[in-house]
Amino acid sequence: KDAVVCRGVSKVWAAGTARAHEALRDVDLDVSPGEFVVLLGPSGCGKSTLLYLVAGLELATGGEIWSFRNPVDRPSPDRSLIFQETSLFPWLSVWQNVAFGLSIRGAPEEERRAVAREALARVGLSEAMHKRPDELSGGMRQRVAVARALAMRPKVLLMDEPFAALDVQTRAKMQDFLLDVWRDSGASVLFVTHHIDEAVALADRVVVFTARPGRIKTVLPVDLPRP
Ligand code: ADP
Ligand code: ADP
Repeated sequence: KDAVVCRGVSKVWAAGTARAHEALRDVDLDVSPGEFVVLLGPSGCGKSTLLYLVAGLELATGGEIWSFRNPVDRPSPDRSLIFQETSLFPWLSVWQNVAFGLSIRGAPEEERRAVAREALARVGLSEAMHKRPDELSGGMRQRVAVARALAMRPKVLLMDEPFAALDVQTRAKMQDFLLDVWRDSGASVLFVTHHIDEAVALADRVVVFTARPGRIKTVLPVDLPRP
């Protein structure tokens, strides 16, 4: 189990100030390659904080995080984070949004177009290649966000309530869609939600956070066969 390894991870926000706030205490969590793990728990219990740490966007105040045997101390295209309302650049076309990470790497236009075309095909949005984000529905925009993440071929997909802004029917479709994409990609997923039905629909394993640091982390195996 080395896709993600958290050992005794703690996070105190604004540590050492009067506003210091303990969000995580002594968290142990292992994610296997290709495993779909859902972090479930009430608002404010530190789920997003843990994703930020695994993404390398924030440093833990205690403990260690590893991903594929490398210490996590900075962001990496191997670990891609998708938010509730992921911002696409409104002035770029859909394919340019998808290829954005590759432009930063300096990939030539031929390659950027090819990678974007393939990633958009994987999320069923080939038709939207040359559209602008504001021409798409909310569900389609989240699919573009997933395509943008996939374009970087991440080993770990970190998803922070990615479907929370969508209506119930779109959300159900997006769950099916995500499972298809995840199976093809071989990536591990760490998916945050406070909806128990969403957790059960998606997870290989549900990790339950409770509201108080230090009292977490019951692990419920989910033994239902996948449809
Ligand atoms: P969840 O995702 O489970 O709702 P969060 O990880 O967002 O929980 O928040 C856990 C705690 O950490 C909350 O009390 C929150 O206010 C605090 N927190 C989150 N992000 C920050 C931040 N950037 N600065 C200070 N406190 C934060
Ligand atoms: P290309 O088709 O060359 O790959 P785009 O997909 O970005 O590039 O552009 C598709 C079309 O949209 C072009 O004709 C372009 O002129 C037009 N376009 C450019 N900027 C905008 C914009 N902000 N809103 C709508 N259409 C735009």
